[in-house]
Amino acid sequence: AQNERDSLFIALKYAGEFFQDTLWNHSEGKSIGLSYFKERGFSEATIKKFDLGYSLDAWDGLMKPALGKGYSEEILEKAGLILKSENKTYDRFRGRVMFPIHNVGGKVIAFGARTLRKDKKQPKYINSPETGVYHKSDIVYGIHQARQAIRNEDLCYLVEGYTDVISMHQSGVQNVVSSSGTSLTKEQIHLIGRYTKNITVLYDGDAAGIKASFRGIDLILEHDLDVHAVVFPEGEDPDSFSRSMSSEAFQQFLKDNAQDFITFKTNILTEGGKNIDPVKKVAVIRDVVESISLIPDGIKRSVYLKSCADLLEIDEQVLISELNKILIKNR
Ligand code: ATP
Ligand code: MN
Ligand code: MN
Ligand code: MN
Repeated sequence: AQNERDSLFIALKYAGEFFQDTLWNHSEGKSIGLSYFKERGFSEATIKKFDLGYSLDAWDGLMKPALGKGYSEEILEKAGLILKSENKTYDRFRGRVMFPIHNVGGKVIAFGARTLRKDKKQPKYINSPETGVYHKSDIVYGIHQARQAIRNEDLCYLVEGYTDVISMHQSGVQNVVSSSGTSLTKEQIHLIGRYTKNITVLYDGDAAGIKASFRGIDLILEHDLDVHAVVFPEGEDPDSFSRSMSSEAFQQFLKDNAQDFITFKTNILTEGGKNIDPVKKVAVIRDVVESISLIPDGIKRSVYLKSCADLLEIDEQVLISELNKILIKNR
């Protein structure tokens, strides 16, 4: 019901403000949470821009004051803020730095929360569960802060994590959102598609990042958006890499290294080498043609096919007939 959605929004807003107040004004928040963000290189302005916060390392750090303010256990639970087991009720987020997730209009709808412990006993990030106002497959992190810049630049950078979005803003790149650990969905692409038809994926420079970028590229192509990709050096993500250089150098790096998806996929699949053995080459061609076959627009398909033929030094007619075979098979 509308009433319940409103109550959830109000409780989530309260929680977001409480976590921020804890970060800036509470001794534990300052000494643990705020110093963590500062050690990561986030400026105070950046921390405020993203409404970052801290959850106390206690079972009722949020619950107690929230109940005192008149929020019911029922609403706090439905908002994903507290958990109930048979014999106790307790805060979901404890001793973590908090990343509020906003909807397009800027209302808090959920939280991502990072542990500060180095041991691997706890998951690095935990997130709010699905609730009446949070459907994780429908939203991308950072859209509220990014949407105007995405329109202005007519381009959206897509990254993996919360901290990638935040560090890129600090490096002067504001047209950036994150799918935040979930694999990209068509709803998320439609959301970005309201603001631009151009996406550049910036995934982590590791095997998982490459796999996710391939999957993301295909899904983006299928939904008729144009896609480029940037490869980051092994072991780097946009957050770490942007912090290792000046804003100007980072922005230049993005411009110089954005590859169209065919070049990107071909380079990765052939490991950058031109002289690959024929068996491998066949597999690469097939993979790239499969991606091209997903594009709904026939003119785009033929343009990309031509570029694929040039890049892989293969007869265009062969590719056209391969593509047609795939199209017929998938019809
Ligand atoms: P950091 O720089 O703080 O270590 P990251 O963003 O680089 O974080 P990655 O391991 O690259 O972390 O993961 C990318 C994103 O995936 C995270 O920002 C988070 O949204 C999500 N994620 C990572 N680990 C988990 C987890 N254990 N459970 C749920 N989501 C996770
Ligand atoms: Mn990663
Ligand atoms: Mn990462
Ligand atoms: Mn990182």
